[in-house]
Amino acid sequence: MTTKQHKLIIISAPSGAGKTTIVKHLLQVFPQFGFSVSATSRKIREGEKNGREYYFVSTDEFEFMITNGKLLEWQEVYPGSYYGTQVSEVERIAANGQMPVFDVDVVGGLNIKRMYGKNALAIFIKPPSYETLETRLRSRATDTEESLQKRLLKAKWELTFEKEFDVVVVNDRLDEAFDQAVKLVHDFIG
Ligand code: ADP
Ligand code: 5GP
Repeated sequence: MTTKQHKLIIISAPSGAGKTTIVKHLLQVFPQFGFSVSATSRKIREGEKNGREYYFVSTDEFEFMITNGKLLEWQEVYPGSYYGTQVSEVERIAANGQMPVFDVDVVGGLNIKRMYGKNALAIFIKPPSYETLETRLRSRATDTEESLQKRLLKAKWELTFEKEFDVVVVNDRLDEAFDQAVKLVHDFIG
């Protein structure tokens, strides 16, 4: 993989902790990074665009990618919903002269960290409390009650992984979380 010698950022957290919000900020501050657009078999949400948030594919297409070695990593993050990073996506970012930023679940994040070692900075975004996570997920209003319950159930387990990450950013006040994340990335890339 061409990017093995380049640096990259991994952002992981339970759904609703603020990953997407923080990643968007980092991408504005650091033009040298490119967002790794994952493939997913979950349904597209209102406001999302194919190729921007995700490459939206069918379950069959996703399983074809698994079988044919097209994915750097993948997880069935929620029952019936696959998410994965295509090898071609990492190559696309490198070809643009950029370093990748991955927004992936905790297991995927730790798998990528194992692949890239010191060249990867794995950041865990932590909500101030489980109750705040639920409030944020509800106010985002992008999930059905069923999908929300799946996310909340999984969040309890995901929150136990924080110690395995290089650093933890508590996303309580957004401006403070932004500043902390920017400083971490700045120090990491030198
Ligand atoms: P994730 O990508 O981790 O699922 P999002 O970035 O979509 O999380 O954030 C979930 C919701 O919480 C969004 O509606 C977002 O605007 C809001 N949010 C994110 N960070 C904060 C914060 N520090 N304070 C209040 N609301 C926040
Ligand atoms: P959402 O459905 O809210 O966009 O994302 C659900 C979860 O899937 C989030 O935790 C997100 O980080 C994770 N995710 C997104 N893309 C990938 C990926 O390529 N690989 C893995 N392992 N997880 C991903």
